[in-house]
Amino acid sequence: MRIPRCADFRAGQVIGVTTTPTIAPRLYSLCSGTEDPYWEILFNIKQDGQLSPKLAKAQPQDTVQISMPVGTFIDDTKSAWWIAAGTGIAPFRAMLRSGRGNNKYLIHGARNATGFYFANEFMPVLKTRYIRCCSQAHGEGLYAGRLTHWLQEQPTVPIDTPYYLCGSAEMVVQVRDILLAKGVPFANICSEIYF
Ligand SMILES: Cc1cc2nc3c(=O)[nH]c(=O)nc-3n(C[C@H](O)[C@H](O)[C@H](O)COP(=O)(O)OP(=O)(O)OC[C@H]3O[C@@H](n4cnc5c(N)ncnc54)[C@H](O)[C@@H]3O)c2cc1C
Repeated sequence: MRIPRCADFRAGQVIGVTTTPTIAPRLYSLCSGTEDPYWEILFNIKQDGQLSPKLAKAQPQDTVQISMPVGTFIDDTKSAWWIAAGTGIAPFRAMLRSGRGNNKYLIHGARNATGFYFANEFMPVLKTRYIRCCSQAHGEGLYAGRLTHWLQEQPTVPIDTPYYLCGSAEMVVQVRDILLAKGVPFANICSEIYF
C-alpha cells in the first residue's frame, strides 16, 4: 500500500495504521526509502485478522489513519547481516532504498519463490551477498530449506558484525539462538518482531 509521504523518518521505522477508529492501529514497517515521495508498506492478508483484509481492500479515495514513524530498528552504513522472513523484508527494503545496501549480507526466508519480495531490487546491489532460502519449493538460485538451516550449516559467521533480525517471534528466537551458539555476542543482535 502506498500513500503520499507525510514526514521525515529513519529507514527501519514503523507506523501505526488503521482504517477506522473502532480497530486499534496495527504496526507496519515503512518499506519505502527516506527520500521517496511516498510511504509504502508491505503486508500479508490474515484472512481471520481484523485489519489486514480491510486494508487490502482500501481504495485510493478511502481514508487511512496513520501515526508518525517510530522505532529504533535502525541500521547505519557499516557492514551488517540482515536476516528476514516473509514480510520481515520490509525494513531492509527501506534501508536498501535509503542507500544502506553496501557491505550488507541479506538472508531472506520464504515459503515459495514468489515470497521473495523486492528480490529484483536486492539482487543487483547485494549480488552474492543475497541468500534466498525457500522452505517449500525448489528453484534456480534458491537454497532449499529454511533460513535457520542455512545458518546452522555455516561453519562460522562473523562475530564482530551487527545482525538485524526481522519477522515472526518464532523465527527471530530461533535465529538468535543459532547466532548465540555460534559465538555472536547478544549485544550484536538487534531484533524487530512482527506479532
Ligand atoms: C513492530 C511491528 C512491525 C510490523 N510490521 C509489519 C509489516 O511490515 N508487514 C506485515 O505484514 N505485518 C507487520 N506487523 C504485523 C501487523 O502489525 C499485524 O499484526 C498483522 O498485519 C495482522 O493484523 P490483523 O489486524 O489483520 O490481524 P489481527 O486481528 O491482529 O489478528 C492476527 C492473528 O491473530 C489471531 N488472533 C486474533 N485475536 C486472537 C485471539 N484472541 N486468540 C487467538 N488468536 C487471535 C487472528 O486470527 C490472526 O490470525 C508488524 C508488527 C509489529 C509488532
